[in-house]
Amino acid sequence: MTDELVVTISAIEHFAYCPRQCALIHCDGVWTDNAHTVRGSRAHRRVDSGYHRHERGRLVLRAIPLWSETLGLSGRADAVEIDADAVRPVEYKSGTRHGPAADLQLCAQALCLEEMLDVDIPEGHVWYGGPRRRVRVTFTSALRREVQQIVAEIRTQLLSASLPEAPNDRRCTECQLLHHCLPGVTSAPHRISRYMADSVFGCAT
Ligand code: SF4
Repeated sequence: MTDELVVTISAIEHFAYCPRQCALIHCDGVWTDNAHTVRGSRAHRRVDSGYHRHERGRLVLRAIPLWSETLGLSGRADAVEIDADAVRPVEYKSGTRHGPAADLQLCAQALCLEEMLDVDIPEGHVWYGGPRRRVRVTFTSALRREVQQIVAEIRTQLLSASLPEAPNDRRCTECQLLHHCLPGVTSAPHRISRYMADSVFGCAT
């Protein structure tokens, strides 16, 4: 068994979105909900039920615990579909696709399943509730390497207990931690004065 710090699969999505968000959640234990996370929790009610069923000739398992001793990873799959030919993880997202974060999370699930079940898993699906569309994700060598790289970076970040600088860009307006992170204040030393100048306190001289 690995002696390394175990990284949670959810941290991969947070890190891919913003390394500072990942550190705040997984190192500092900060969590606040916004409209996106509340919508996501509602959308997950059915998959969180753990209710399994047969559907169009395949078995659909829900809320399946996952781990990889090789990678030092643990987490959970929203759903795992099993039929005569394949095992496929399925991730449910309430909104629309924003970059590769969900692909990386899904690939991490596949890497865990491959190790747990000793099978090859070439692809999985992400279901997006916004457009109500299911998107196929192929687990290429490049995507697998990227997952491994991110897991290593997260582990380094958690062990260092450091908080990366806030990028303070368009991601922040959608971020659930906006009011905790205060990127306008913390993004760079000189921005504190700019924040005060722009703020409702009117401290500019
Ligand atoms: S508010 Fe911006 S900088 Fe802060 S955690 Fe969120 S995305 Fe990252």
